[in-house]
Amino acid sequence: MNNAAKASNKQDDIAIQLIGMHKWYGEFHVLRDINLTVNRGERIVVCGPSGSGKSTMIRCINRLEEHQQGQIIVDGIELTNDVKKIDEIRREVGMVFQHFNLFPHLTVLENCTLAPIWVRKTPKKEAEATAMQFLERVKIPEQAHKYPGQLSGGQQQRVAIARSLCMNPRIMLFDEPTSALDPEMISEVLDTMISLAEDGMTMICVTHEMGFAKTVADRVIFMDGGEIIEQAPPQEFFENPQSERTQLFLSQIL
Ligand code: ADP
Ligand code: MG
Repeated sequence: MNNAAKASNKQDDIAIQLIGMHKWYGEFHVLRDINLTVNRGERIVVCGPSGSGKSTMIRCINRLEEHQQGQIIVDGIELTNDVKKIDEIRREVGMVFQHFNLFPHLTVLENCTLAPIWVRKTPKKEAEATAMQFLERVKIPEQAHKYPGQLSGGQQQRVAIARSLCMNPRIMLFDEPTSALDPEMISEVLDTMISLAEDGMTMICVTHEMGFAKTVADRVIFMDGGEIIEQAPPQEFFENPQSERTQLFLSQIL
C-alpha cells in the first residue's frame, strides 16, 4: 500500500477531530483551544463542572453552535458555513439531550418517523418498520402509539434515542441524557447506551454517571473553564488523576 493510501486509511479511522477550536458567546470566551481526536468506534465520556463548556463543545460538533476559530472535522468533512456540509454532517451525527425534546403532539412512532419521512423521503411504511425495530431495540415497542406525555421520563429518553437511531447515524452525541431522570429510571437509559456502545457506535457522552464511564468509556475527558484539562482511559483517570482541578472535581462527585 502506498503512503497516500495509508494516510487516507488513517483518516478513515477518525470520526471526529477538533483542532485548535475556540468559541465565544459575544465577548465570553467559552471554549479555548480544544484539541480532540475521536476514533471510529471510540466511546468518550466528557465530564467537568457545570458551566465548563461541555454542552457547547458537543453542540459545536453538529453545528447547533458555531465555532469561531480552529477546525472541526466530522467523518472527513470540515464544518464550515457551507450549508451542504452542515447537512452532510448532521446526517452522520445523532444527538440526545437532557430534556428529550420529543414532539408532544406526535405519537412515539410519529416522533421516530418524522425526519426519515420528511427529511430523507423514506416511504412511510418503510420508516415505520425501521422505527419499530429501533423501538424494540430500546425495549418499548408497546409504547409506539402513545404520546410522549403518557410515558415515564426513562421511556421518553429511550424514544429520543430510538428516534436518533432511525436516521442511521454513525456517531451519537449524548448531553447528560440521564440527569433529568428520576434515579430509578437512570439504569434503563444507561443500559440502552451500553448496548449501543457494545455494537461499536462512536459515542461522545457528557455525563456524570461515573459507573458508566468506568465500564463503557475508552477515554474520559475532563473539562474546566472552557478547556480540556485532562484525558485518559478510565482506570488511569479515576485512580491517578493528574491535575488538581480533576482531583477536586472527582472528590466532589465520587
Ligand atoms: P456545561 O454544559 O459544561 O454546563 P455550557 O457549555 O452549557 O456548560 O456553558 C458554558 C458557559 O457558556 C457557561 O458559562 C454558560 O453560562 C455559557 N453559555 C452557554 N450557552 C450560552 C449562550 N447561548 N449564550 C451565552 N452564554 C452561554
Ligand atoms: Mg451542559
